[in-house]
Amino acid sequence: MHYSCLEHVDMAIDIVIEEGSGEPPQLEELTEELKQSTGCEFCRNSAIYIVSNGRSIHYVDN
Ligand SMILES: [Zn+2]
Repeated sequence: MHYSCLEHVDMAIDIVIEEGSGEPPQLEELTEELKQSTGCEFCRNSAIYIVSNGRSIHYVDN
């Protein structure tokens, strides 16, 4: 899974597609707390979204 800001979410989606799990990429917005502690993988901004394939999203237990 990949963390990205709003600007780079397309890049994160492309990477997930290239990783080729066969699952469609899924976008989830980070919680406010995580936004502040997580950086975008592609720049120095705070991450807004987590992009993953359909199988790995369940790390969040709400
Ligand atoms: Zn970014």
